[in-house]
Amino acid sequence: MEDCDRGFDLEARLGSLEERAQKRTLSPVDRVAERGYFADAAGGDLPVLDTDEALVFSSNNYLGLTDDQRVQDAARQAAATVGTGAGASRIITGDTMVHHDLERLLAETKGTERALAFSSGYAANVGTITALEPDVIFSDERNHASLIDGCRLADCETIVYDHCDPASLRDALESRAAVADSTNADAGTEDESWLIVTDTVFSVDGTVAPLSAICDLAEEFGAWVMVDEAHATGLYADGGGVVQAEGLEDRVHIQMGTLSKALASQGGYVAGSDALIESLLNEARSFAFSTGLAPTAAAAASEALHLARHSEAREQLWENVAHLRDGLETMGFSIPGESQILPVIVGDQRDALAFADGLRARGIVVPPIRPPAVPEGESRLRVAPIATHDRDDIITCLESFRTVGSELGLL
Ligand code: PMP
Repeated sequence: MEDCDRGFDLEARLGSLEERAQKRTLSPVDRVAERGYFADAAGGDLPVLDTDEALVFSSNNYLGLTDDQRVQDAARQAAATVGTGAGASRIITGDTMVHHDLERLLAETKGTERALAFSSGYAANVGTITALEPDVIFSDERNHASLIDGCRLADCETIVYDHCDPASLRDALESRAAVADSTNADAGTEDESWLIVTDTVFSVDGTVAPLSAICDLAEEFGAWVMVDEAHATGLYADGGGVVQAEGLEDRVHIQMGTLSKALASQGGYVAGSDALIESLLNEARSFAFSTGLAPTAAAAASEALHLARHSEAREQLWENVAHLRDGLETMGFSIPGESQILPVIVGDQRDALAFADGLRARGIVVPPIRPPAVPEGESRLRVAPIATHDRDDIITCLESFRTVGSELGLL
């Protein structure tokens, strides 16, 4: 027994820091710690997100509200009145009026009876799907990892359909319905519970789910629909997301989103019927067994949501998106999707790395997205303008794309 080693050889799994730097698999967190990683490209020892020195064109801070004085004041005021942290789970002593104000505003914006705030979007997805305990989940092949992990933890049958493809979803529903019908006929069992889950705006593809067609199919087959509006909340329609933009509030059963992107804060939420929220309060383990969302984060998100709905930031963002998309397409890049996320697909991962390095050397930060985050041969630069970029910023970004693209022979 003495020679026995049942531990984990993590260093062997990772490889040395040098090996990882060489293979370029260091995470940005390592890179900042290891200052100078960008030194050769940028000619200086910059932390990765020094926004005085570099223009970031890949942030989820879509409305630029993390820097807004009013959002910062709201967080400060909550810290001063209710404290910086919740101090416990909301079902113990962590519940505050700041949480309820946020949830009321979210429900009003999303057109639902109620909403519930979680400590992250990840926790909201995993907690909701596991609490529902579906028998079968139909999941878009490009769904976010937190939806995928929710499906895994729910330990149910998950059927993956082709990305944004209603015909593929129909095939999956029809085949599974045939199985259910024959089982029911044999055993006289009750109807199963089925859940269709999809992002609305896909974060590295820039695509928008065909929600109305998905709702038609859900109704035809008696399934529920759950959407992840992480990249749509605060941006589409009056801030209510793609569901609101398409008038589907009464046809989508579960509207999930994050507070961490356009809402400039941290946390997640689920909006839906009174019965849904009541059951999540009781059954979602990531809600009950985790410290409540920090009141500072809740207050910042409330103010940001209010601003997203009532300020001009949204229009400014969409103007910037149109300008950048137009410029990139004129250069010859084909940009899939129709959202604020503009993926410049270069294919080979070495090209994506070289492109990102070239942009970084010119002060433009657009990290490359490579396998396994995207399929092999689909490496890309995920370009995302924000509302506070001005005209000159967009022009600088476009000029850099043109120069680097030509240097690499990719134009
Ligand atoms: N869903 C999607 C589509 C996301 O992009 C993210 C975050 N990148 C999440 C959920 C998780 O949200 P959070 O960061 O608040 O945990």
